[in-house]
Amino acid sequence: MRRIIYHPKYSNYDLGPEHPFSPLRVEMVIDLLKELNVPFNYIEPEIVSPDLLTQIHNKEYVDLVEAVSKGEEIPNYSDFGLGTADNPIVKGMAEGARYLAGGALLGAKLLIEGKANKVLQLGGGFHHAHKKLAAGFCLYNDLALAIKAMTNAGWHVAYLDIDVHHGDGVQEIFYTDDKVMTISIHESGEFLFPGTGWVYELGSGMGRSLKLNLPLEPFTEGDSYLEVINKAVEPALAYFKPDALVVQTGADAHFADPLADLMLTTHDYEKIYRRIFELADENCKGRALFTLGGGYCPRATSRIWTILYFIFNNIPLPEKLPDTWRKHWEKRLNKPFPETLHDQLPAFDPIPRKEEVVKHNKDVVQRLMDAVAPDWL
Ligand SMILES: [Zn+2]
Repeated sequence: MRRIIYHPKYSNYDLGPEHPFSPLRVEMVIDLLKELNVPFNYIEPEIVSPDLLTQIHNKEYVDLVEAVSKGEEIPNYSDFGLGTADNPIVKGMAEGARYLAGGALLGAKLLIEGKANKVLQLGGGFHHAHKKLAAGFCLYNDLALAIKAMTNAGWHVAYLDIDVHHGDGVQEIFYTDDKVMTISIHESGEFLFPGTGWVYELGSGMGRSLKLNLPLEPFTEGDSYLEVINKAVEPALAYFKPDALVVQTGADAHFADPLADLMLTTHDYEKIYRRIFELADENCKGRALFTLGGGYCPRATSRIWTILYFIFNNIPLPEKLPDTWRKHWEKRLNKPFPETLHDQLPAFDPIPRKEEVVKHNKDVVQRLMDAVAPDWL
């Protein structure tokens, strides 16, 4: 059984017209589904209480976020990562973030209660939210809340993060937890926010060798990315044998993304998403919760998440974008759109350092496998 989770109030998490984490991206997906005559049936989650969020976040942090979101003047907000360009203080943002956290939590509950085998939450994926720090457009860690609900039910959970940025918040929250494996595939922190996610960050205590990081070289293409999945993620899941997979499906590794430097195409995303579904089938009876995440080229992100929606629902992908949708959004964003759902190939000029990039990524996988080998016996 597959379920979609969404709430119109997700768009209350709006950090301003110039902010890249725009609710417009999901609005574009929903609009495209409508134009393609694809059913969009979803369950609306309830909002979570601030109290519940203290399962993940420090209480002082939650109290402050709630207060500033109501417009209260609290002098030390910057100690908690707020009031920056990335995490501006916007009235009502906490309510939007709590609806999104409620969606992820509902997804976890549907899986735990056996009411769904796969859940797609059309929003969220706030992997940079730390215990007591807002960062990287993220306020409350919806992913961690969902994972915690699963581990409270006695499950082992594998968290797979394909956002182009390191999933640092989720990793931090479960760093010593032996019930949670975190796997983050991202552009190396040498070049990209948040500057972490190195192979040697393996977890500690009981969580050792269960926090896996695959920092990839800038300009990594799809073939190398898929090789990393097959050579590192596949054996990791086979070793850990999770009860469920939680996946952050960020679309910012696309070549057109303005904030990062990987070179995935929509075709690559299709292959990656399909591979993740297979991995869920092979390792945890298909049980998986998918959230959205980063993705800052709306023209690419909207098509990538539409591809995810089609794969999730097992519907064949359409070739063409409807003219009405394309023309409407071309006008609103003042940018030309392709005529097809997929990128038109070749999408970019050949990468000059391709062999070097592929070799670097192979080395990263090897170093990680060597590092965890003594603990995976
Ligand atoms: Zn990202």
